[in-house]
Amino acid sequence: MSCSLAAEIKQNMSKASAKAPTGFDRFGLDESIVRGIRAAGFKKPRSIQSETIPAGREGRDVLGLAQTGTGKTAAFALPLLDRIMYKHRRGTSVLVLAPTRELANQITEEIRQLARYTQIKVVTVFGGVPMKRQIDQLRRRPEIVVGCPGRVLDLLQQGRLHLAHIESLVIDEADHLFDMGFMPDVRQILDALPRKRQNLLFSATMPDEIRKLADDLLHDPQVVELSTSAPVSTIDHALIMIPEGCKRDLLEQLLAGDDCRSAIIFTRTKNRVRRLTEYLGKSGHRVAGIQGNLSQARRDQVMRGFRKHKFDILVATDIVARGIDVSGVSHVINFDVPNTPEAYTHRIGRTGRAELEGIAYTFVTRFDHGWLRATERMIGFKISRKKVDGFEPDFNEPRPYQHGGAPRGQWRGNRSRSGPAEGKGQSRWGRPPGPGGSRRRTR
Ligand code: ADP
Ligand code: MG
Repeated sequence: MSCSLAAEIKQNMSKASAKAPTGFDRFGLDESIVRGIRAAGFKKPRSIQSETIPAGREGRDVLGLAQTGTGKTAAFALPLLDRIMYKHRRGTSVLVLAPTRELANQITEEIRQLARYTQIKVVTVFGGVPMKRQIDQLRRRPEIVVGCPGRVLDLLQQGRLHLAHIESLVIDEADHLFDMGFMPDVRQILDALPRKRQNLLFSATMPDEIRKLADDLLHDPQVVELSTSAPVSTIDHALIMIPEGCKRDLLEQLLAGDDCRSAIIFTRTKNRVRRLTEYLGKSGHRVAGIQGNLSQARRDQVMRGFRKHKFDILVATDIVARGIDVSGVSHVINFDVPNTPEAYTHRIGRTGRAELEGIAYTFVTRFDHGWLRATERMIGFKISRKKVDGFEPDFNEPRPYQHGGAPRGQWRGNRSRSGPAEGKGQSRWGRPPGPGGSRRRTR
C-alpha cells in the first residue's frame, strides 16, 4: 500500500489543517453521547477526532497514526458508541485490544465517561487477576469489551468470551502490542472474529510489522496521520549531562524546584524503581513506584493514588510510558535513558497532556552515547542541553548528528526507519552496565 498510502496520508494531512474543528455537534452523534462529551469537558474535537469520527460512524476502516496524547481514545470510542446506539440487538459488538492493563483500564474509564448517559456496558479483561469477576461481568453481555490479548485469548478458548457478533475491532497502540510480543495472540484473536467487520488500527509509529498488519486487516481505510511522532509542542524537553553517581542529587534539586508539582521518573529496571522509590520516600517525598513485578491490585492502587494526587512522584519502568494519561504531571524525568529512541517520545509524552505545559529532562551519562546519537538521528535535530550549576558532565559529548533539511525543533520523516523493534530485556545500543544497575533490563 506504500505509494497510495503515502499520497492519501498527504491528502488527509492537508485536509486536516484546512478544516477548523468547530465542536462536536456537527457529527450527528446521538444526543446522549453528546451529553457525555459535554460532561467530559471536551469543547471541540481534536484533529484526529475530526478526521476519524465521520468515517468510523459510517462503518469504514480507520488507520490512525498519531503520537500519544492526541485524543485517540475518543476518536474511536465516539463513533463506535454511536453505532451501538442504533443497533437493535444487544451483545458484544465492539472489541478493543490494548497492550497493558493500565491502558485497558484507562480506555474503559474514558468510554464509560463518554457513555454515561447511555445504557452501554463496558467490561475490561486482562491477566494477573482472577478470571471469575471478569467472567461474571461478561455474562451480562456488555456491548464493549476492552482487553489485553493474552486474557482475551484465554477467555475465548474457555468459551467465556463470545466474539461471533463483533462488528468493530479496535487495535490500540499497535506498535506497543508488537513490541511486547503480543502479535501471535492478536492474530489468533483475529481468526476468531467474523470476517465482515470494521477495523480501526491506531499506532504511534509504523514499523514494518504494523504496516503488514494494516495491509492484512484494513480495507480501504480512512488514513489519518498527525504530522510525526514529535513530542507535543507543550513539552519543553532537554538533556542534562551528568556522571551516574550524581543522578540522585540532581534529581532532588529538580524536585525541589518551585515549578515541580507532580513528576514521573523513569528508570531502567524494576530494581532501580524499587531503590529510587525507597530513597525518595526516606528523604520525605510523597512517592510511589510502579513496575511489572507488583501485583495487579497494587499497580491499580498506585495509579489511582497518583491520579488523585495522593503522591506527587511516580517512579516507573516503561510499563507506564505509553498512553497513560494523568493530568497535571508537570515533569517527566528520565533518570535513565529509555531503551529505544521511540520510547523517548512516549515517555516524555506523559507530561504536556491536554494542552498543559510540561517539562521533560533526561539524565545522560557517558554510557549513553549510542542512545543519544540514535535518538537525535531519529528526530532529526539536536535536543537542547541544560546545564545545572554544580553538576558538570564528566565526559566529552559525541559528535552531534548532522541533520540535513529538517528545521530545528522539528522531527523528520518516517519513524519506522529506525529499525526493527527489539525484544524485551535487550538493548539495541550496546550499553555497558552503569555503576548503578545491571545490564539486564526488565520492564
Ligand atoms: P491518546 O490515546 O492519543 O494518547 P487520549 O485518548 O488518552 O490520547 O487523550 C489524552 C487526553 O486528552 C485525555 O485526558 C482525554 O480525556 C483528553 N481529550 C481527548 N479529546 C479531547 C477533547 N476533544 N477536548 C479535550 N480533551 C480531550
Ligand atoms: Mg491511547
